[in-house]
Amino acid sequence: MNKKHHTRKMTVREFFKRFPDDAACLEHVMTVRYGHRHTCGKCGVIDATFHRLENRKAYSCAHCGHNVYPCAGTIFEKSRTPLTLWFYAIFLFISSRHGVSGMELHRQLGVTRKCGYRMGMQIRQLMNKGDFQGMLGGINRQIEIDEAYIGGRRAGKSGRGAAGKTVVMGMKERDGYIHTAVIPNASKNSLRQVFHENVKPGTIISTDEWAGYNLVTPDGHWHGTVRHGAKEYANTDELGYRHHVNGVENFWKLFKASIRSTHIQISKAHCDAYLNEFTFRQNHREMGQAMFDVLIAAV
Ligand SMILES: [Zn+2]
Repeated sequence: MNKKHHTRKMTVREFFKRFPDDAACLEHVMTVRYGHRHTCGKCGVIDATFHRLENRKAYSCAHCGHNVYPCAGTIFEKSRTPLTLWFYAIFLFISSRHGVSGMELHRQLGVTRKCGYRMGMQIRQLMNKGDFQGMLGGINRQIEIDEAYIGGRRAGKSGRGAAGKTVVMGMKERDGYIHTAVIPNASKNSLRQVFHENVKPGTIISTDEWAGYNLVTPDGHWHGTVRHGAKEYANTDELGYRHHVNGVENFWKLFKASIRSTHIQISKAHCDAYLNEFTFRQNHREMGQAMFDVLIAAV
C-alpha cells in the first residue's frame, strides 16, 4: 500500500463548492462511471460527446441521440432522495471518525428516519464493495491478529466471555490493510478458516496467547505470541521480529467506543455492515478526498 501519497480531507466548504447541485453530482457520476467522452454504445462513434438532457438524469450522444443514464444500476437509480443529499451523506461517512447513524442522517439531511437508516445501510454496502479485496501478508510481511467481542453483556475478567456478544476477528498488516470479519465463535476452526482465506503463506504472525491461534502456524507461517495474561504487550523473538497486536487492538478500541457513542446498540445481524464501514475508513484514511471517488466508483 502506498502511504506516501498523503491527501487532505475535503472540508464542508470544498464539498459544497464541488457539488453545489444535483447537476454537478450527476456530472460526477457520469465522469467516474463512463467518462464524458466515450464510445457510444449505439452509433459506435469513438470519443463521442454527450450532452446533459434537461430535467432528466440522462445524457445524450451528440451524434445519434442515444441516451445514457449514469445512475442506472446504482443505489441512486430508484431513490427519490436527491443526488446532493446522497453525496452529502457519503461525505459525512468519509469525514467521520466515529461513524454515522441513520438518526444522524435523518437530522442532518432532513429525510425520514427510515430513509436515513436505509441510506446508511446502502452506503455501508458501498464501503464494503469499494474496499481492498486481496490477500494480506506474504514473505517478510507481518500481520497482527486479534479478536474482539462486540455488544451483549459485559465480558468476565478474562475478557473472553462471549455471552450474547458478536465475535469479530481482525487481521492487520503492519503499515498495510486490515481485514475484519464477523465469526460464529472464537474457536480455532473459525479463526483458522478466516485466516487461511485472507492471509498468504509465509507470513509472520503476531497474536496474543489465545490457544486458538496456535493452529494457524503449521502452514509455513512464522508465529510470535505476546502473553497479555502476564501483562506482556510486546516482545522480540529469536529472529528479531517484534510482536505485538497494538494496531488491531486500536482498531477495536475505536470501533467499540464509536458504536457505543454513535449507535448505542447494533444488532448482531448488522454488525458486519458497521464493521465494513470502519474497515473501509481505516484502509482509506490517508486518501483524503480520493476516498469519495472510490465510493462513487463503487455505486
Ligand atoms: Zn451515438
